[in-house]
Amino acid sequence: MNAAPIVTDHSPRRVVIVGGGITGLAAAYALQEQSRKANIPTRFTLLESSDRFGGKILTEHVGGFTIEGGPDCYIRQKPWATELCQSLGLGGELIGTNDERRKTFVVQKQRLTPLPDGVMLIVPTRITPFITSSLISWPGKLRMGLDFFIPRREEKDDESVGAFVRRRLGGEALDKIAEPLLSGIHVSDPESQSLLATFPRFRALEEQHGSLIRGMLAQKRSNHNHSGNTAPSSSNGTPASMFISLRSGLGELVAVLQEALTEGDLYTGVKVSSLERTQNGFRVGSTTGETWEADAVILAVPAYISADLVSHLDAELSSMLSAIRYVSTATISLAYTRNSVKHPLNGFGYVTPRSEQRQVSACTWSSIKFDSRAPQDGLLLRCFVGGPGREELVSLENPELVNVARRELAEMMGINAQPLFARVYRWNKANPLYDVGHLERVEQIRNRVANHPGVFLCGSAYDGVGIPDCIHQGQQAAEQALKSLSLELA
Ligand SMILES: Cc1cc2nc3c(=O)[nH]c(=O)nc-3n(C[C@H](O)[C@H](O)[C@H](O)COP(=O)(O)OP(=O)(O)OC[C@H]3O[C@@H](n4cnc5c(N)ncnc54)[C@H](O)[C@@H]3O)c2cc1C
Repeated sequence: MNAAPIVTDHSPRRVVIVGGGITGLAAAYALQEQSRKANIPTRFTLLESSDRFGGKILTEHVGGFTIEGGPDCYIRQKPWATELCQSLGLGGELIGTNDERRKTFVVQKQRLTPLPDGVMLIVPTRITPFITSSLISWPGKLRMGLDFFIPRREEKDDESVGAFVRRRLGGEALDKIAEPLLSGIHVSDPESQSLLATFPRFRALEEQHGSLIRGMLAQKRSNHNHSGNTAPSSSNGTPASMFISLRSGLGELVAVLQEALTEGDLYTGVKVSSLERTQNGFRVGSTTGETWEADAVILAVPAYISADLVSHLDAELSSMLSAIRYVSTATISLAYTRNSVKHPLNGFGYVTPRSEQRQVSACTWSSIKFDSRAPQDGLLLRCFVGGPGREELVSLENPELVNVARRELAEMMGINAQPLFARVYRWNKANPLYDVGHLERVEQIRNRVANHPGVFLCGSAYDGVGIPDCIHQGQQAAEQALKSLSLELA
């Protein structure tokens, strides 16, 4: 906020934030910091239904291992997470991936085949490694090369990621590269996943360069010219790798944020079940009958929870929110002694195309990808299950899920050793699906919610699922809430 309004009423404005994941925490922190600067006395109440803050961010420390139950890193390119870490004094704790070990494998006929060097996201940018790779057949490679000649699409409307990749690079590239790699970022089915909401950059490259490969090559050249591409860390000391984490895990961000929230009331174990408009604002109620009065309410919960909460305010808004679909996933982390595993572990892990019909969709070699995830003689691996069409696995009992992961590691990596321990993290209805038309859907939701001044929606359902996007959305919701409060006061 730029100009500080002149405040005559000194009673603090009350903001209730529902949901204590990273979005709600970031909203609370932004509210605290910005209200101070803008001289608007504000007190927030953060209500979280579970017994801890952080939502999908969950780090556990067991026997010298640092285990991430949910996200294990975030993309550096989007600045909001790094900026928040820095403002909380965590700048020195940021770590990058071990890029000298950076390699991704793709399961092909039950074997791990390296993704050719130079593939950026899904686009080959180096000829020799691509030509000599056994991942894609010769007809598949030639089809990918047609990208140089296929005219750009004239229509500007949305399409599925599957349709786009098939159109530009062909079916084999979709099956063996795009689907497994991209669904690791957005747990999604490429045939229904919105291109414009999840990978708008691909459409932009096509529009600007008439070819995805030509566009990616131009971008690579320009990045190289600007950065020299050799710096181990950027000018402000932030690791230069594409993905960033914190030395003791992302849970550190949650813990430090929580500690920094000194100007509000934080509750866990409070499940919000109602939201009503009152004469002076809103009343937020919990399942146990407690209520909170508020001048503004920030809903930082999954869209289907917000749908229930707004149902008495606006049935149409509620049904728009319910239209955002979610899927369930689970991660299974296994800890080993390093010398019990013979595999060379020469990369960050592997992804599995759907066509391979395996239960595990990806495996990250966590303690290779990042330092400080395992003791010196330890090894930490984590398997992913679930997602569209494979959700039934998530409801297996923990021992069965551990068996699924162990069978996978035995078949794919020859690991038959007994793990030191295993941890299962289940994420029910956790991943929002950005279906084709998502941008329009969100715009309609935003237009509709504007009819309810004082109510703000944010979180992974709307404008990006990654941690930086969630933080940014929480900050924007806080800013909008403060703006509405300052208008009330003016
Ligand atoms: C397995 C997995 C791996 C991921 N990996 C990555 C990654 O590597 N990098 C990345 O950037 N992103 C990753 N993501 C995505 C990212 O973690 C999430 O999008 C992000 O953390 C969501 O934050 P949020 O605060 O919007 O939602 P949440 O974390 O879901 O927080 C919402 C909170 O609201 C609470 N709540 C729900 N209902 C109520 C209620 N009625 N009353 C009060 N509180 C309520 C919930 O308990 C929860 O704590 C991953 C997600 C998963 C599931």
